[in-house]
Amino acid sequence: MSNIEGKRVLVTGAAGFLGSHLCDRFIAEGCKVVGMDNLITGSLSNIEHLFKLENFEFYHHDVSKFVFVPGEIDYILHFASPASPIDYLKIPIQTLKVGSLGTHNLLGLARVKKARMIIASTSEVYGDPTVHPQTEDYWGNVNPIGPRGVYDEAKRFQEAITMAYHTFHGLETRIVRIFNTYGPRMRLNDGRALPAFMGQALRGEDITVFGDGSQTRSFCYVEDLVEGIYRLLLSDYAYPVNIGNPDEISIGDFAEEIIKLTGTDQKIVFKPLPQDDPKQRQPDITKAREILGWEPKVSRSEGMKKTWEYFKSLPEWIITPREFQSN
Ligand code: UDP
Repeated sequence: MSNIEGKRVLVTGAAGFLGSHLCDRFIAEGCKVVGMDNLITGSLSNIEHLFKLENFEFYHHDVSKFVFVPGEIDYILHFASPASPIDYLKIPIQTLKVGSLGTHNLLGLARVKKARMIIASTSEVYGDPTVHPQTEDYWGNVNPIGPRGVYDEAKRFQEAITMAYHTFHGLETRIVRIFNTYGPRMRLNDGRALPAFMGQALRGEDITVFGDGSQTRSFCYVEDLVEGIYRLLLSDYAYPVNIGNPDEISIGDFAEEIIKLTGTDQKIVFKPLPQDDPKQRQPDITKAREILGWEPKVSRSEGMKKTWEYFKSLPEWIITPREFQSN
């Protein structure tokens, strides 16, 4: 067991993709975990296995409203937020509120509880970057009023208010800038490239590549990400740290990899590129290497195999929900 055994940890967005993996990790470290989620984009099935544990409790609550949790809290991990372009379009106001009002509420809670708080920031703070790969001292190229603006600007505000609580109130804070991450428990229909492509493979549909497929991303396996977040939380570094896998690939090549992995005879069909879709993205992880001694360990081929196994194991009604059915 670790030196944080017995600590009480609040995880917001606990029923989401990243939140649920973080709950698992802190339970495994011997912590008491308090999960919180409003279940707008999260799913209880991601944390169902935790409900029987004595060290886990769950609040069905929206952190954009006043947050109260009785008892001591040692760490707060603020991971509640819609996190895919499709979600920002469907629920733009909630996206803005959870990053701004939600963060403010949790910083207030952290002060009262004398807890250390880590916020989930994102490579989206760099927008469509003009610096490549992205270092933490790059200020970004964000369109505040575009479709991604509600997410990007909420996350930028989140960093600003977190830093202000750190400098003005002396609160212990940490900021992780998360790059594209994948793995089991991603939502099959959240519109992101990997679940979209794997879902299409499962339904025998063609793969939809947006634009000409030359835009790049760098995909990190969730286990690596969780390790990076864990190390950052326990470090004494209060400035933003990129956590991601620098192994960059074009979306066209990524689609080809998925066709090979799934062994289907899917064709690639090209669709229009969404507005403000970043052309390239790759984390510079020098800081994470130097400060945290962290770097990703799981290769894309290994991580993708595990993720494919997960998606294949889902029940039919999740793979082909009504919105995908032709009749
Ligand atoms: N993308 C695609 N087809 C899809 C879904 C996404 O070509 O069905 C593209 C998308 O336009 C973007 C890339 O894949 O260029 C990664 O998209 P994702 O939503 O996973 O992440 P983000 O753009 O937020 O990094």
